[in-house]
Amino acid sequence: MQLDNYRSPWMNEELSAFGDSIRRFVRERMAPHEDEWRAQHQGDRETWLACGEMGMILPDVPSEYGGADGTPAHYAVVLQELAYGGSASIALSINHIVGHYILAGGTEAQKQQWLPKIASGEVICSIAMTEPGTGSDLQGVRTRAVKKGDKYVISGSKTFISNGQLSDMVVVVAKTDLEAKGSKGISLFIVDTKTPGFIRGKCLDKIGMPGQDTSEMFFDECEVPADCLLGGAEGRGFYQLMQQLPYERAEIGIQAVAHMERALALTVEYTKERKAFGKAILDFQNTRFQLADVKATVVASRTFVDLIIQRWVDGTLDTTLASMGKFWLTDRQGEVMDRCLQFFGGFGYMNEYPIARMFADARVARIYGGANEIQRELVGRSL
Ligand SMILES: Cc1cc2nc3c(=O)[nH]c(=O)nc-3n(C[C@H](O)[C@H](O)[C@H](O)COP(=O)(O)OP(=O)(O)OC[C@H]3O[C@@H](n4cnc5c(N)ncnc54)[C@H](O)[C@@H]3O)c2cc1C
Repeated sequence: MQLDNYRSPWMNEELSAFGDSIRRFVRERMAPHEDEWRAQHQGDRETWLACGEMGMILPDVPSEYGGADGTPAHYAVVLQELAYGGSASIALSINHIVGHYILAGGTEAQKQQWLPKIASGEVICSIAMTEPGTGSDLQGVRTRAVKKGDKYVISGSKTFISNGQLSDMVVVVAKTDLEAKGSKGISLFIVDTKTPGFIRGKCLDKIGMPGQDTSEMFFDECEVPADCLLGGAEGRGFYQLMQQLPYERAEIGIQAVAHMERALALTVEYTKERKAFGKAILDFQNTRFQLADVKATVVASRTFVDLIIQRWVDGTLDTTLASMGKFWLTDRQGEVMDRCLQFFGGFGYMNEYPIARMFADARVARIYGGANEIQRELVGRSL
């Protein structure tokens, strides 16, 4: 999918072999189910478990917690292969993000309890930040967790939560101190979705990624043991979120680039075959010029995201670079999908064509993981 004669600087033989095995798995075990998952608005548990067995969920977590002792580059390979193979319904990245919240901020008991099951796909995770009244401004969350003896009682509503119908566990952002200013009163809780008072709302009808079960969630006096507090200390939630958000943004950037690479490859292939006025669509100068622009954008995006991946592997990825990548790469993704779709004519508007799905799926990348305007704010602070 990538440019001829270009190999990402972080890629090596071992990662390349890992990528080959993931590519086969995605082609044989995931892509054939996409239509079914889109129709039922969720993936299936068997595939989650199979992904766990392939080491796709937490490849970059120590093996003592069920991971594979790899690096973020292993996870980048997984994200790329999912995108290249057209698999958009199984939201492994949520398990990856939650796994890293727990690895970075959890107590030893929390790591032992959850990480192996998150890695194996036995536990499907959600992360519940957004509420009907607040998304970008996370300090405005109204969900509260009140300490009562050795329990916390959680009450509130969440929305747009990925894996919301399937999740076995949800990390909930809640206020433990209503008086504290700004971010100080926010804490994260690990909630087993079998807990009484946890209520799944409806699966939301989206314009893209219909195979993902994005949902509402409610907490109606949901009583959880005090040791569900991530890290065991109140008021650290905002810090725990901020510590991990750059990696979530890097993931979105990696996906954006892989989708652009696939879109370009599909469009070149199609425009070589499709004829109009007695010649291939690619033989029109307009097509070649437009796709030359797209190719330059894709190559620039690839080299940019390779820097992000390398920094992540080296442990030097900072908020500014991750946010810059998130907004710039997903903005490019939107443009590339739009320009590529045009060359498919009416077929580009049909959901059975991958380019139509990729166009619709791409739109959310500029909104979730922190809207692109918020990313620009964060980068602006570094100037
Ligand atoms: C498919 C999907 C999956 C999602 N999955 C999850 C999930 O798993 N967990 C979760 O917690 N959330 C999830 N979200 C929610 C997502 O993270 C939020 O939608 C996003 O953060 C934006 O919040 P909001 O929708 O409340 O928009 P608002 O905060 O209301 O903002 C609306 C718009 O206002 C503008 N804006 C806002 N603030 C500023 C500012 N400071 N400066 C300039 N412009 C600004 C931006 O254009 C922004 O897009 C998901 C959303 C979708 C659509």
